[in-house]
Amino acid sequence: MAEDPMPSALSKNRVFRFAPSPNGLLHLGHAVSAILNHDLAAASGGRFLLRMEDIDPARSRPEFEDAIYRDLAWLGLEWEQPVRRQSEHVAFYGAALERLKEMGVLYPGFLSRGEVKARVEAAGGDWPRDPDGAPLYPTDERSLDRGQALDWIAAGRQHAWRLDMDKARALAPALLEWQETGAGPDGETGSVPARPERWGDVILSRPDAPASYHLAVVLDDAAQGVTDVVRGQDLFHATAVHRLLQCLLGLPAPTYRHHGLVLGADGRKLSKSNQDTGIAAYRERGVSPAGIRALLTGYGFVFD
Ligand code: GLU
Repeated sequence: MAEDPMPSALSKNRVFRFAPSPNGLLHLGHAVSAILNHDLAAASGGRFLLRMEDIDPARSRPEFEDAIYRDLAWLGLEWEQPVRRQSEHVAFYGAALERLKEMGVLYPGFLSRGEVKARVEAAGGDWPRDPDGAPLYPTDERSLDRGQALDWIAAGRQHAWRLDMDKARALAPALLEWQETGAGPDGETGSVPARPERWGDVILSRPDAPASYHLAVVLDDAAQGVTDVVRGQDLFHATAVHRLLQCLLGLPAPTYRHHGLVLGADGRKLSKSNQDTGIAAYRERGVSPAGIRALLTGYGFVFD
């Protein structure tokens, strides 16, 4: 089914979205994002959408999707129907992937995580790392003979389609920016220069997950006419990759607002496996939705 990537780009209304991945239970950090998006939409007379980022079949579970609906409804949030579920739009992402292949900015990479690790170790630890601390993928497969690579794929070899960051970067303006109304981890705000090259040759598709988070998120934000992306600071640096993909695919750029993270007692960001800080766990302990807001206000979050 063909989808118009920017049906509401001309709409004057602001469009917000909360986009959880149903691979665990929502925690307080998700509550911040969901409440902020909901309240900002309400305050601006805009729309509040919910999107299930269930593109990775190995990690997504229907029971977590049900739990997300239950927790958000309990928090008193209302969202528009129907909910967009990424698993229902695989052909849409595939078409964008084909366009990028035709533009010559994708190549299949065959190295396993272990093989990359071995190369990094062989280099004696002197290897560039991405903003999350992971080693960048080696770039030598960029120049692999394409016929040979396609034969390997046909023979069933494990692979992932990766963005040739140098080629992609060369097709976008030298000064690539996004508008940030929140702040990055180092206080970055306003016009923020995007440096996608810090991520190296990111994965855009694997046989088991037809679109990566980066590809699906920019396509969905455009398809849903999202004007304002409000999400946790852990995704701040990923925005650079999103801006690059928007540029390559001719998609509009939303405004971004990254909010601070709720940290656990150990000073680390909350994880879905930590049941104690789950919204459901608070509910079961008798905390009310207003109590959740009060708790988050205590952490320093300001809701409109
Ligand atoms: N699905 C992502 C997550 O749960 C969030 C995506 C986004 O807000 O851009 O972390």
